[in-house]
Amino acid sequence: MPTLSDVIDALEALWPAGRAEPWDAVGLVCGDPQAQVSRVLLAVDPVHEVAAEAIRLGADLLVTHHPLYLRGTTTVAATGFKGRVVHDLIKHDVALHVAHTNADRADPGVSDALAAVVGLRVTGPLVPDADDPAGRRGLGRVGELPVPLRLADFAAQAARGLPGTAAGLRVAGDPDREIRTVAVCGGSGDSLFDAVRAAGVDAYLTADLRHHPASEAVQHGGPALLDAAHWATEWPWCEQAAAQLDEISDRHGWQLRTHVSRVVTDPWTLHAAAPHPVP
Ligand SMILES: [Zn+2]
Repeated sequence: MPTLSDVIDALEALWPAGRAEPWDAVGLVCGDPQAQVSRVLLAVDPVHEVAAEAIRLGADLLVTHHPLYLRGTTTVAATGFKGRVVHDLIKHDVALHVAHTNADRADPGVSDALAAVVGLRVTGPLVPDADDPAGRRGLGRVGELPVPLRLADFAAQAARGLPGTAAGLRVAGDPDREIRTVAVCGGSGDSLFDAVRAAGVDAYLTADLRHHPASEAVQHGGPALLDAAHWATEWPWCEQAAAQLDEISDRHGWQLRTHVSRVVTDPWTLHAAAPHPVP
């Protein structure tokens, strides 16, 4: 059975902490490097429901995409939800490890998993890493559909491929527009509009699009936009990461049991369509 330190070394090889953005907070949040690890849970958010799931499963390690503490803290008291998560995990010998922007830009990364579930064949990163001669690492991905689809049909296909959330998908653009090439970015992607425009794609699928950047992109005659739930765009990475970890475990004879959390932690829980036109 591997120690936490052995497993962390393997995760660090997949998603080196040095490739995270300077503002990010990745790596081990809690856990004893000498502890033994037999069961691992992967999830997007280190929230109460996910910590409870890890404890229920008897997991020794929880790997999440989002950091628990993004900024410095002077207390882990259980008076707040983050401190409560730390207490619950430590009390039940569950370590917490974060792979965030280092997993975004990895090969394969978060956006590769997103591209796969919406039916795209990836042709390269949207914003390639300058220090990757192979040109495979970077932020976002550009991909193509095996056969062109109407925007409405691509949206339906993407919605079917993503895990279900109350919000579903919002779409901007002519439903009959032909879609052949698509840029994707797991998580909040409205900072990448310039790269999306430069890529000359037919559509852009991401999350958390705001009114002004989206409106400006449409007014510029840019690509159709598909705005999904943030959690849904990053969850497919958990399955991809679990498969990577299984492969490493087999190679080392670790017999790790890896699980992917099915708890929907997108904060939006209800969608009410407004049925009446403007009076
Ligand atoms: Zn995210």
